[in-house]
Amino acid sequence: MADFDVDLFVIGGGSGGVRAARIAAGHGARVMVAEEYRMGGTCVIRGCVPKKLFVIGSHVHEEIEDAAGFGWSIGQVSFDWATLVANKDKEIARLERAYTTNVEKSGATVVKTRAVLEDAHTLRLATGEQVTAKYVLIATGGAPNHGPAIPGIEHVISSNEAFHLKELPKRIVIQGGGYIALEFAGIFAGFGSDVTVIYRGDNILRGFDEDVRKHARAEMEKRGITIITGCTVTKVDKHGEGFTTHLSSGSSIASDQVMFAIGRHPNVANLGLETAGVAINPANGGIQVDGWSKSSVDNIYAIGDVTHRTNLTPVAIREGHAFADTVFGKRPVHVDHATIPTAVFSQPEIGTVGLTEEEARAQFSHVDIYKTDFRPIKATMSGRDTRVLMKLVVDGMSDRVLGCHIVGDGAAEITQVVAIAVKMKATKADFDATMALHPTAAEELVTMRSPTARHVRQAAE
Ligand code: FAD
Ligand code: NDP
Repeated sequence: MADFDVDLFVIGGGSGGVRAARIAAGHGARVMVAEEYRMGGTCVIRGCVPKKLFVIGSHVHEEIEDAAGFGWSIGQVSFDWATLVANKDKEIARLERAYTTNVEKSGATVVKTRAVLEDAHTLRLATGEQVTAKYVLIATGGAPNHGPAIPGIEHVISSNEAFHLKELPKRIVIQGGGYIALEFAGIFAGFGSDVTVIYRGDNILRGFDEDVRKHARAEMEKRGITIITGCTVTKVDKHGEGFTTHLSSGSSIASDQVMFAIGRHPNVANLGLETAGVAINPANGGIQVDGWSKSSVDNIYAIGDVTHRTNLTPVAIREGHAFADTVFGKRPVHVDHATIPTAVFSQPEIGTVGLTEEEARAQFSHVDIYKTDFRPIKATMSGRDTRVLMKLVVDGMSDRVLGCHIVGDGAAEITQVVAIAVKMKATKADFDATMALHPTAAEELVTMRSPTARHVRQAAE
């Protein structure tokens, strides 16, 4: 590989790029990683990590409210947004340094600059330097969609800005009904903002199990979040420090911030993809790759959000690791994208793995549903009006558990563990044979005896 400056050039120092660089360097490759913004990428700098810190912080509100039923009298409490943001920034800066150090320790070189392709083996850095590479890994992630160019779109923030607001908005309008909109709705509501969610369809969380969608919406509404469905934002007017958001329904809402969380697009623009001959997947706008994350050009691979497959950090990491093992470790590793657990860190949390009831009924002739909806033990003393949803979707013929869906505190943690059983193709009988752990919410998953519904598809005549 001596004809090239490096064996591997990684564009993007995010979750996927960093993992690939470290593993490839460990396999003995000469690796260079270019990062144009901050090492760690979206997840660490303005995604999963700061989001989770905000969720944890905002959930304290509920803990304080719930404490009275357990005998606590907490008195006057106050919350300081500036302290939260400053402490979060400190932690993110620490993680950013750790990411850089870990890459360098692995033997790879980090260059803090933008890199683009000049041809299949040549990278041009923003510093003007040229680097040649035997292999190139594109791990440039994605960015928030701005949506249609409505009047006043320049006043609208995305999740990027939401992490750095100078003040906590007293009132915020959030457009979108997916992960980011609902996570931030919970964050702002927890800190005391008046939150209105605007969603274009008939109910939030399209693609999730129908029972989850209904239950999650009802629980968010109980926590004071206003959810308006069936309309979109058509115009945003600014008046001094405030805004008026106009809706397609004809009504309008006053607020201190307007945020859009309407999906993200892969970072493929101005990367030199056309010059290098790298094809875009027409179905999703991401870089087209095969099962080995190889692009249409033999020595160029792409992983993570830039491929717009499943845009989650553990997926980007797994794809980066598999790429490095396959290309530099002489150990071909295929990433299995089936049955990926996922959570929406809304309040309450949503955890899900496997098929929804709707998907299972489309794919299997016999589907049994086990569903329970109960008041968690804490609510019996806190007095909070809340219920937890747990649902198992089971193949009625083989007894295999096809999906598990949870809405309630701890849903993400429970789902991570249930995902092992679902991935191992556990049956409902395996769940039943497992002793309950009492008193927990999760014990419901092994104590639901009879199906709440049985769906049998009639054979076509
Ligand atoms: P990224 O992490 O986006 O990294 C790409 C990097 O490439 C960036 O640092 C960028 O600056 C750099 N770059 C781009 N172009 C160039 C160039 N030409 N030259 C040099 N550098 C370049 N996922 C979860 O699993 N759980 C969560 O809870 C979760 N929460 C999220 C919350 C929010 C608000 C957001 C926005 C996302 C969240 N995600 C979550 C998704 C997760 O962040 C992404 O799936 C993950 O970061 C993708 O990793 P990646 O390596 O593909 O890209
Ligand atoms: P999502 O795809 O989750 O949600 C986008 C929402 O915006 C949907 O409700 C969608 O509606 C709506 N929408 C899309 N286009 C428009 C439009 N033009 N006008 C009005 N509404 C629109 O994207 P997010 O931005 O919330 O998050 C991006 C991705 O990041 C997620 O899909 C996920 O992969 C990842 N992520 C993961 C997290 C986690 O793991 N906890 C947290 C945050 C992000 P419709 O459904 O009708 O299309």
